[in-house]
Amino acid sequence: MGKRWTLKEIKEFVEKNSDSELLTTEYRGFSQKLEFKCACGNTFEKPWKKFKENHQRKCEVCQPPKASR
Ligand SMILES: [Zn+2]
Repeated sequence: MGKRWTLKEIKEFVEKNSDSELLTTEYRGFSQKLEFKCACGNTFEKPWKKFKENHQRKCEVCQPPKASR
């Protein structure tokens, strides 16, 4: 905890650790919703915290929020 992410670092993390693409061009904080483009073409919003720590790195079609398995 406590690391301060820059938009550049986030973009690189997203490129390396997911199939999604970062669309947001301004980062203001950990709980801000960022806009991503999923590999399937859908766009989705996700706070950076959830994207990174909860591994929610796809849109809701590819990764349903209530997936039971
Ligand atoms: Zn998708």
